[in-house]
Amino acid sequence: QTQPKYLTGDSGAINEFIGQFDVFLFDCDGVLWSGDHLFEGVVETLELLRARGKRVVFVTNNSTKSRQDYQKKLTAMGIPSRVDEIFASAYSSAVYIARILRLPEPRNKVFVIGESGIETELRAEGVPFVGGTDPALRRDIAPEDFAGLADGSLLDPDVGVVLAGLDFHINYLKLSMGFQYLRRGAKFLATNLDSTLPMSHTFFPGAGSISVPLVNMTGEAPIALGKPSQAMMDAIEGKFQLDRARTCMVGDRLDTDIKFGIQGKLGGTLAVLTGVSSKGDWEQEGAEVVPAYYVDKLSDLRAAETS
Ligand code: PLP
Ligand code: CA
Repeated sequence: QTQPKYLTGDSGAINEFIGQFDVFLFDCDGVLWSGDHLFEGVVETLELLRARGKRVVFVTNNSTKSRQDYQKKLTAMGIPSRVDEIFASAYSSAVYIARILRLPEPRNKVFVIGESGIETELRAEGVPFVGGTDPALRRDIAPEDFAGLADGSLLDPDVGVVLAGLDFHINYLKLSMGFQYLRRGAKFLATNLDSTLPMSHTFFPGAGSISVPLVNMTGEAPIALGKPSQAMMDAIEGKFQLDRARTCMVGDRLDTDIKFGIQGKLGGTLAVLTGVSSKGDWEQEGAEVVPAYYVDKLSDLRAAETS
């Protein structure tokens, strides 16, 4: 495997790098910020790219938020953005269901395992759903539920899709319902498959770890809509009329972001070492995912200004 080109401190190489692309797809957490901490120089770096006529798209696997929620977060961080520059996995899931799956009525409802961001995006696409933040499901399973699940009386007969994202109230009842829907032939989708979620200098279970119990029960893998899924890339390409050769994916995680860019045959991938992955991950023997470029931090690209 050829090793990536290190851009930090090399303003000539940075200018050449930037000049190759019209569009930059930005992963958010680990690149722009970590949790609620904005990295220094990010706002200025994005301004520099925009001033050079580059298009910026924010692509996040965070399934708990809608695009509007994300725009609020970007605004709170001081990053100017428009809703239509944001592509989050809840949105790509809703678009996939509404425009690609297009299930015929009446079996077109979605059973949601997840938070309100997914519900907002499904609503915006006109997709009916049950589950999600419904407080009736935030409880222990009761003895009579087993009978209701077995005979189907506790289930909505119109459910044709199970969509699993990060759910902070995941429980046995929701997993049992999801399993029953899948047994009855519902299609299995996941917003994203991130195994873990980096937060507060450690890791928590990611959305992918919410769908894994259902994989274990059914023996079936879901169609995933977040990075590195090419269903997400196709949706981005359709929406933004991407010229893939002139597009660069910027991310902190090899198994989601960089893989997403490589599999999508983008013109370039830039790894940023302020998040999950480190140099050792691509330098090790047999590494499968190697970025084309890397910098220590995103604001290292600001060296382009001075040359
Ligand atoms: N999923 C959730 C729920 C998150 O909160 C985050 C980061 O905040 C992610 C996934 C990863 O997001 P990104 O793709 O922006 O790194
Ligand atoms: Ca990230």
